[in-house]
Amino acid sequence: MMPMHVIVIGAGVTGTATAWYLRAAGIDVTLVDAADLPARGASAANGGMLHASHAEPWNAPGVSWDLLRYVGRDSSPLLLRPRALPGILPWGIEFLWNSRRSRFERNTLHNARLAEYALRQLRDLQRQLQLDFQFVESGILKIFQDPESLRRNRSASQAMADAGVRFEDWDSERVAAEEPALAPIAHRLCGALYFPDDAIGNAAAFTRELATAAQHAGVRWCPNTRVTRWRLFRGHINGVETSAGPMAADAVVLASGFAAPELLRQLGLRLPVAPVKGYSLTLDLPEVWRPRLPIIDDANKVVLTPLGGQLRLAGTAEFTGTDLRLNPSRVANVLAQCRRTLPRLPEYFDAATMEPWTGLRPMSARGTPILGPTRVPGLFLNTGAGHLGWTFACGSACLLRDSVLGVDPALPLDPFLL
Ligand SMILES: Cc1cc2nc3c(=O)[nH]c(=O)nc-3n(C[C@H](O)[C@H](O)[C@H](O)COP(=O)(O)OP(=O)(O)OC[C@H]3O[C@@H](n4cnc5c(N)ncnc54)[C@H](O)[C@@H]3O)c2cc1C
Repeated sequence: MMPMHVIVIGAGVTGTATAWYLRAAGIDVTLVDAADLPARGASAANGGMLHASHAEPWNAPGVSWDLLRYVGRDSSPLLLRPRALPGILPWGIEFLWNSRRSRFERNTLHNARLAEYALRQLRDLQRQLQLDFQFVESGILKIFQDPESLRRNRSASQAMADAGVRFEDWDSERVAAEEPALAPIAHRLCGALYFPDDAIGNAAAFTRELATAAQHAGVRWCPNTRVTRWRLFRGHINGVETSAGPMAADAVVLASGFAAPELLRQLGLRLPVAPVKGYSLTLDLPEVWRPRLPIIDDANKVVLTPLGGQLRLAGTAEFTGTDLRLNPSRVANVLAQCRRTLPRLPEYFDAATMEPWTGLRPMSARGTPILGPTRVPGLFLNTGAGHLGWTFACGSACLLRDSVLGVDPALPLDPFLL
């Protein structure tokens, strides 16, 4: 039977999109968040990239060696804090287990199909709602200094062709011609891949605009409301206890990002999702200095995204538990990496206008998001999207809607189930 009233926990980009699509299907929806505004968590200031081309999970074959190399190294883009180790041990074992080549390749394809579907849904939604979130269908340029890395990325992109990922091979002259901001480092590049179907957009602006549209469409928005416990009747979820009192529902969608495992533990369910910290810096930059294209620099492990009148720099992956403090040395690290990509960057911006930010990606040990029904009737999940949550948001929300409605989803749900 189709549920009449659904509570969605978490108003990040994932939960807000889920609330929107459920409501659009005629369901009565309440969206609750512990914060005062939508997009206060990982969706607040991410890299802004909407990229099916980047669908590879982070647990690529060989990741265990990388992690060991980077234990405690503050200057590296990947950082594993020894004190975080005990907390992520079972997750870490599963993360490494999924780095076996066959699993990694299968999961990459699942992600690429979901991302491609998600971007189609986002484009349809944008045609319908005309939201203001600095959405640009610019494509994304990935640059390389190491021929082996370029070769590996090219063959990974070829493998994703099935999922609709298209790319062009650019040499360094073409890179300098198409993106003059990269001319000073073009001599160091061995080539680049340009993904014409990728796009960019401001995830926080999208989430807040969509939350407003959802309220106009009838979604009940409950800010400053922390969900603390489940309400069950004969083993079926029939609501939640919150800091603002009890709420009844026919079904609940848990979309609370990295915090989801904690609530699920009360039901005896283990959700293999861990927080992976990242940083971004947002700078005011005059148009003449801003790169025209969004750039992923493979060598420096950073992304540079022109968003409206600003440039967003993002990077680093840190296993450090749920510590959300801004660490000045990590901020400096992202800036230093970006200066290697745009060597004249320091001349261009006023450091006083720079907005540093840090967020916790909800990373599943499998490398694919976790979504769909659970063995507890009435409980659905939509989390674990890791470094791709903005890209996946509209796709995972549509699959979740279909799952709640009990209709056939556009993609098989099996790869994403808990
Ligand atoms: C530095 C960085 C760069 C990134 N760049 C990109 C990118 O370029 N492209 C891309 O696709 N993805 C990117 N990501 C990943 C993406 O930002 C995340 O995957 C996505 O934001 C996750 O969204 P979410 O809605 O699942 O979680 P969140 O945005 O964290 O939302 C979860 C919400 O749940 C609420 N909540 C938690 N517990 C409770 C509770 N008990 N009761 C009520 N509310 C609760 C929180 O307050 C929060 O608002 C990046 C992430 C980082 C950190």
